[in-house]
Amino acid sequence: MKLILFDVDGTLLSCGPQVRPLFAEALGEVYGRAGDLDGYSFSGKTDPRIVLDLMTAAGVTEAEVRSALPRMQEAYLRRLERRLRRDAMVLLPGVVELLERLAARRDVALGLLTGNWQRGARIKLSRFDLNRFFRFGAFGEDGVQRHELPPVALRRAAAEAGREFAAADVLIVGDSTEDVACARAHGVPCLAVATGWTPAERLRGAGARWVVADLPSAERVFAAFAPA
Ligand SMILES: [Mg+2]
Repeated sequence: MKLILFDVDGTLLSCGPQVRPLFAEALGEVYGRAGDLDGYSFSGKTDPRIVLDLMTAAGVTEAEVRSALPRMQEAYLRRLERRLRRDAMVLLPGVVELLERLAARRDVALGLLTGNWQRGARIKLSRFDLNRFFRFGAFGEDGVQRHELPPVALRRAAAEAGREFAAADVLIVGDSTEDVACARAHGVPCLAVATGWTPAERLRGAGARWVVADLPSAERVFAAFAPA
């Protein structure tokens, strides 16, 4: 049995530029400043890491940032729930077809591996009815650094499937060099899709086993990883 773990932003969907202002407002509400949000790359970072990076750089002590994180999470997710607009988002090519095909297989389990806080991931996925494909995952609550997430996802997958997964039987699918690095840290193969902010060349340089322009171009990779 194989396990495939999907990143959300840049891999399954894109929210466009509408999330940054919501994040900025929430930071302003909780910490009284938004920091250098425009100069910061969110790509592949967990939500708590984004908050910690931006706020410590803006002069808030790490202890203060951490103690207000639950309030920050609430302030951001409240805005995301109310204001994330599907018509300003993009469902990436081939996503529904691929997930439907994989979900129909009894020898493949699907999960999420994303830096979004779980509720944030669920809100984003709900806009295209994608939550139905994912019963478990690892999320922003599970670690500040992305490389902390794969063991959590594997534990939850094992609980769900009633069996353990070896690293070689897992595939991490993501769009950033952080996805690639977190897979490599655990000896898990990574399929990188250049549908986010990171060019294929950089994903290749980061050591992804496969790099494709988009998910429909990964047909052969899925066939090789999990032969039907
Ligand atoms: Mg991503």
